[in-house]
Amino acid sequence: MSHYNKELKFAIEIVRKASIITEWFKKKNFGSFSYKKPDQSPVTLADFASQIYLNSQIREYFQDDQIIAEEENVEFIDLKAENLIKQCFKELNINKLEILKENIRYHGKTSERQWTIDPIDGTIGYQQGLSYAIGVGFMINSNPKICAIAVPNYNVDLLAIFSAEENQGAQVSYSNNVFKPIKVNHNEDLRNIRLCHSLHYDQPWVLKFAQDIGIRNFIQIDSMAKFCMVADGTADLYIKPLDLEHSFTWDFMPGDLLVKEAGGNVTDLNGEHLKFKEKKCTWTKPGIIASNRKLQKKILELIKRKPPN
Ligand SMILES: [Mg+2]
Repeated sequence: MSHYNKELKFAIEIVRKASIITEWFKKKNFGSFSYKKPDQSPVTLADFASQIYLNSQIREYFQDDQIIAEEENVEFIDLKAENLIKQCFKELNINKLEILKENIRYHGKTSERQWTIDPIDGTIGYQQGLSYAIGVGFMINSNPKICAIAVPNYNVDLLAIFSAEENQGAQVSYSNNVFKPIKVNHNEDLRNIRLCHSLHYDQPWVLKFAQDIGIRNFIQIDSMAKFCMVADGTADLYIKPLDLEHSFTWDFMPGDLLVKEAGGNVTDLNGEHLKFKEKKCTWTKPGIIASNRKLQKKILELIKRKPPN
């Protein structure tokens, strides 16, 4: 029985609408309004507009809940930027004009009920017209309960919305509200597997390891769409190098829950599950593997023999 049906439906609706916001900015060609965060990663006006919308919805409908969201650099939003966000919201009939900046930094109340927000995952991909995603998760005391991930242009030019609830399975809908269950595939033949890996944040050991064990098919894309590809069986394996400094709950919690609920497994290179604590995602060895259970075990054994250096 679903325990979080209300939160799940809500998350699906807000990531759907947030994707309309991000696509609005893309179509208007406002990608040039981008900034460098203190960690040198890029952020665009669309990231801010998406987070303002997502935070404001949670603020309105779940006012006692806590929000753990990625963006916080409100200083980038000058008058020109603010006016563009207002123009977007006006054209899309979003009535959130009065408290723009405040909504970026709105964290709600400290609560066991916690929402994680990634307003655009894969910002570089977004800027280049490639793959990106919007990810929302919901946790109780840092334990994942539901997720919703919108991936515009996932399948040809369709918007895909992936969602999952703990112990209730994973599902997808394409450009409508009809959801179908998804499952990881059962492929474990190394010569035939398709590995997805990061387009802009990869490390050489991932590809070298994959080639050494005989993998020949690669899908290189940005964002948590890689978790979606494993969850719906499009890809067989996802290997991601991690570094502790840039390992946040909003990046990994939605995909972690989605793959597990689709019957797969997600662990670090030691075989340990990812752990979430407020905004931090932690692990014991610097990388994660998402796959079906059998292939995942096989890959873990091979990584033990050829550990990344
Ligand atoms: Mg982001």
